[in-house]
Amino acid sequence: MTAILVPIKNFVKEDFICKCGCGRFNMDENFLIRYQAFRLIHGKPLTPTSGGRCIKHNKAEGGVKTSLHQCETKKATAVDTTGDCAKIYKDACACGLFNEIEWHKNDGKNFVHLGWDPNQKGLDYKII
Ligand SMILES: [Zn+2]
Ligand SMILES: [Zn+2]
Repeated sequence: MTAILVPIKNFVKEDFICKCGCGRFNMDENFLIRYQAFRLIHGKPLTPTSGGRCIKHNKAEGGVKTSLHQCETKKATAVDTTGDCAKIYKDACACGLFNEIEWHKNDGKNFVHLGWDPNQKGLDYKII
């Protein structure tokens, strides 16, 4: 089977680089295709606020050791996103492109974590 090539037209590499200043970019290509597909389904702008994170930055952000954002020992498969969070959460839960979705609503942060965990069985959707 040949690889399916999808242009990532709404985002640039810089959107997903580790925010600590280390410049690390190690996003999973298939995840970026999911994210782009979600942008098309959602139909409104998405602003990625955190994509890949080196181990140090992931720790500083309070991310768990097994975080899908961690991109030093594996490719990252999560992006924190702002925009119309209520619609992002609703569309993300409906579309089936992600199996880890967390709307940080009640903690005052207001972003939606969109992730794909290849080892996870079932869906993990929650409002935090
Ligand atoms: Zn970093
Ligand atoms: Zn996240």
